[in-house]
Amino acid sequence: MSQINEMVRQHLDHLEPHRELSAVEQSMQKERVKRLLREKDAVLVAHYYTDPVLQELAEETGGCVSDSLEMARFGHAHKASTLVVAGVRFMGETAKILSPEKRVLMPTLEATCSLDIGCPADEFAAFCDQHPDRTVVVYANTSAAVKARADWVVTSSIALPIVEHLDARGEKILWAPDKYLGDYVRRSTGADMILWDGLCIVHEEFKAKGIHDLKNIYPDAAVLVHPESPAPVVDLADSVGSTSQIIEAARTMPNKQFIVATDQGIFYKLQQQVPDKEFIIAPTAGSGATCRSCAHCPWMAMNALDNLADSLEYGTNEVFVDPAIGARAMVPLKRMLDFAAERKRKQAASA
Ligand code: SF4
Repeated sequence: MSQINEMVRQHLDHLEPHRELSAVEQSMQKERVKRLLREKDAVLVAHYYTDPVLQELAEETGGCVSDSLEMARFGHAHKASTLVVAGVRFMGETAKILSPEKRVLMPTLEATCSLDIGCPADEFAAFCDQHPDRTVVVYANTSAAVKARADWVVTSSIALPIVEHLDARGEKILWAPDKYLGDYVRRSTGADMILWDGLCIVHEEFKAKGIHDLKNIYPDAAVLVHPESPAPVVDLADSVGSTSQIIEAARTMPNKQFIVATDQGIFYKLQQQVPDKEFIIAPTAGSGATCRSCAHCPWMAMNALDNLADSLEYGTNEVFVDPAIGARAMVPLKRMLDFAAERKRKQAASA
């Protein structure tokens, strides 16, 4: 077992499994959350990997369901004084960094990410110090302190164009923490990149052989892969992209069936946006593997109706970021958002 998997296993082992709610409890908690969102001037921002019931609730209450880049943008632009972030810790921190004047709550502060756990700020700073000639690019799935050490923050939806941009300027890159996403970006852009040794325990579990076998059963299915997966899985893809890009590929590609290699939480949105097509989850290593995470993130799964309602009612699980670290982390985050906005503007102008 790798060192990261061992750290992650130890982290997961001390967590209590979340209790399933009955249908009646679920309906009561939904109404409670709706009332509290109104009373507390709050808006719910949920990631695609959270429970469909939370995604539905975010949509019904004027919130947003999206990837981490859009979650950050939406929360920053929204007029509500409280943001409730259903996702994992770094998403709440990003919301707080971008909107320090707002109160940011989460259903639980224990929901973290193997990429965040596997990239401690002090070890990362030492790695950066060894390579002072390199531009530091970090994935959004990192702590505020790691972001504060970076020149650029990227999400999976904007990583390629940002690295292409830096490569065109002749910059050499230090990339962290996801080695698989970093490898995909390096292979796609040809940029000079050195990679931190981190991984997502969910996407690492997808297996090329399993996908290959499934293709024999569904020969007309297109394979959609998130680039946090290992290279042999990425290489089987008909389309590689972030969660939003996977949904867009499913919408626009002519295929009627898709094998999907990302967290199965995305199926709610896929089925909603593309109801006439069939989606099949890509095979993982299964229960014999190290994961409690096969095709579903154990930390995303910690977001639930009852802890969300409690957080709103009692103001618990508020996210705080040291203002000095937040101010430093804001610089690379804002660079990414400005880059994304400028790119969108150019694309609209040339359309
Ligand atoms: Fe982190 Fe992977 Fe979970 Fe996303 S799915 S939060 S990258 S562990």
